[in-house]
Amino acid sequence: MTNEPRLIDPFARAITYLRVSVTDRCDFRCVYCMAEHMEFLPKAQLLTLEELDRLCSAFIGLGVQKLRITGGEPLVRKGIMTFFRAMSRHLDSGALKELTLTTNGSQLQRFAAELADCGVKRINISLDTLDAAKFKAITRWGRFEQVMAGIDAAVAAGLRVKINTVALKGVNDDEVHDLVRWCGERGHDLTFIEVMPMGDLGNENRLDQYYSLHDLRRELETQWTLTDSPERTGGPARYVRVKETGGRIGFITPLTHNFCEGCNRVRVTCTGQLYMCLGQEDDADLRAPLRASPTDDAPLVATIRAAIARKPKGHDFDYSRQTVSGQMPRHMSHTGG
Ligand code: SAM
Ligand code: SF4
Repeated sequence: MTNEPRLIDPFARAITYLRVSVTDRCDFRCVYCMAEHMEFLPKAQLLTLEELDRLCSAFIGLGVQKLRITGGEPLVRKGIMTFFRAMSRHLDSGALKELTLTTNGSQLQRFAAELADCGVKRINISLDTLDAAKFKAITRWGRFEQVMAGIDAAVAAGLRVKINTVALKGVNDDEVHDLVRWCGERGHDLTFIEVMPMGDLGNENRLDQYYSLHDLRRELETQWTLTDSPERTGGPARYVRVKETGGRIGFITPLTHNFCEGCNRVRVTCTGQLYMCLGQEDDADLRAPLRASPTDDAPLVATIRAAIARKPKGHDFDYSRQTVSGQMPRHMSHTGG
């Protein structure tokens, strides 16, 4: 492990949080994320598990303390438990404070116990509806009962579960109270996410489905007593407490520039592209130094440092002029949500 100075960007933000997409593949085809007939990348373009280990370990050596594994669906990547097991050594050493993942929940019956054994304590599970038919319509290929059983398996393994719900007008806007009640009863935190102008936009415009979290919060307040909470988890969510359930609700509003100033995170795609900002095109290829120099991480570290020196102040998403501007051609499943 290196003992190099920490990563600090030009705006004095320390980079302590890395999200890594380990695959572009998924067993679901959520409408806002993927086309039904996605073309996936040739396997040779993906980082191998060994390359992922080197890459994450390099970031941890540079001061990253929180590592979130995502995708695509991270738990469909072959051999992924080997990677989680390998990362647990950084938890044991104390260099890494948190190892976590974002998952659609479909594989948790198989993996929840092992994830807990690798030191994972909290996971984010994406669930946009409590209605099996709607679930099918949103995820296309997902099975609601399998995800419910996955959530139960996570709880049984002792993992704290946070539910992530993309707010979709005309789809799940009639369910927001049920979701608050269900999460409250089960003790899950709940985070609502504004739909972002990403993914397959061929004949769909996310603007039609855009449900402002400002409006969603106003709707919640017709039935629940919400109190603003100063809590932050190092991410872009703002939190409220729900008096009636004692639960916590987060709001992630990536389209309103309210979190860039505190941004401590960067992302790496499954092909090893480092994105310094979710909403900007600028990236750095980390696969090239990984592959050019299989035993020496110095070129990799130098590339990471040079990239962080270019981390922008904020992003360009904007729905405000009733057009989707600042739209990114990337798929969320490549970048990792
Ligand atoms: N497959 C895993 C899952 O669904 O949790 C991890 C990857 S997924 C890309 C990560 C998160 O991104 C999910 O919570 C998903 O709902 C969210 N997401 C995908 N496309 C989105 C979009 N266009 N706008 C907002 N959130 C999106
Ligand atoms: Fe798969 Fe997650 Fe994208 Fe849905 S949101 S298609 S589960 S990667």
